[in-house]
Amino acid sequence: MSIYPSKGRLMSRETKREIALQRAAELKARIVDYLDARASIPSGFEAADEIEANRRRIMAYFGATEDDWQDWRWQLKNRVTSVAVLEELIPLTAAEKEAILRVERTYRWAVSPYYLSLMGNDPECPIRRQALPGAAELEDEVGVLDPMDEELTSPAPAITRRYPDRLIINVTNQCAMYCRHCQRRRNIGEVDRSRSRRELEQAIEYIRRNEEIRDVLITGGDALMLSDATLDWLLTELDNIPHVEIKRLGTRVPVTLPQRITPELCRILAKHPPIYLNTQFNHPREVTPAAKAACDRLVQAGVVLGNQAVLLNGINNHPFIMKKLNQELLKIRVRPYYIFHAKPVKGTTHFITTIEEGVEIMEHLRGYTSGLAVPTYIINAPHGLGKTPILPQYVLARNEDHVVLRTWEKRTILYPNLGRRNKRAGA
Ligand SMILES: *Cc1c(COP(=O)(O)O)cnc(C)c1O
Repeated sequence: MSIYPSKGRLMSRETKREIALQRAAELKARIVDYLDARASIPSGFEAADEIEANRRRIMAYFGATEDDWQDWRWQLKNRVTSVAVLEELIPLTAAEKEAILRVERTYRWAVSPYYLSLMGNDPECPIRRQALPGAAELEDEVGVLDPMDEELTSPAPAITRRYPDRLIINVTNQCAMYCRHCQRRRNIGEVDRSRSRRELEQAIEYIRRNEEIRDVLITGGDALMLSDATLDWLLTELDNIPHVEIKRLGTRVPVTLPQRITPELCRILAKHPPIYLNTQFNHPREVTPAAKAACDRLVQAGVVLGNQAVLLNGINNHPFIMKKLNQELLKIRVRPYYIFHAKPVKGTTHFITTIEEGVEIMEHLRGYTSGLAVPTYIINAPHGLGKTPILPQYVLARNEDHVVLRTWEKRTILYPNLGRRNKRAGA
């Protein structure tokens, strides 16, 4: 006898179809609230007219040509770093202006003209909140500079190692934009500096001597703030180490400076497969035609794209925003990989949400949308003890013979542990 006696065995075809139609109606009812809400969370494509008007205004201010705008060096050189320029480009309230002037004495800020063009006029705009200093940065009484103790997990210059088979090379402290929620704020300092060739050589030497390292993540700062030549050299060195199986890049430029993804850069990346690139889109509004064009070029170069969003209070801590973000990302061939719980970094703790909010978001993704749009929610354990996944409870109880599961819709089921009767493979 089957363990699943079929409910449909004795039914007519009409009855079966009737049951399926009822179930379909029930499933449809599960997303009506989202379908109503999603139009009020415009993507960068849906806000394209507003963004284009902003772009024209910013270009006029700088006297920029179309070629200038498409040139990432022009974008970097013209990063906005002062209130005097900012207020010429976007409307600022007196309170916003006062906050920036006060905070910038402690923490630096910089926004590329491109990222500035994504801003809406509402002070609560998710783009503004990621880019412009806010008064709360100075009111932080609980944050610490280095919650991950990165300094204590660096066995060689530029390297952070927290895992058995993979590590990070931290190549620069530079970024196209200084995110207000930055986890490495302590490194951002006042001056941009890249690691010296000597330090990078020592990092490579460490990887060469440790044969268990099969996965090397190049990050910063922003890995793509390196010059094309340095990146080509570094990737070549890693390719020459037989036990390095994959290279990864950590970069936010597809979001903050998509012009950096040039055909020349893509020619270099295409020479060094396999490369996995993880970026950080945090809100659907960041998914713009320009970001898509950059992702298209990367995909054509054979780079595999993933997203590591940060869960941020007042920016994306809502199930509908995260669902739309992850769906928009799949449309531009970026696979949602992680949602990070924000770390207690000094000057950024006003962005931290409750853990319950994170779990609620995961609850509203699994089952409700494509599995491809469901990243893993991660809390970084303190002192560099590693990424720890947080999931809604799907296992309600278990013994040797059964588990009690709850499904995505919260139906409870008893599931038999039949595999206990079979032999295990391997050693
Ligand atoms: C995040 C991280 C990695 C990569 O972790 P994955 O879970 O494999 O993506 C590797 N090393 C360090 C130090 C990290 O912080």
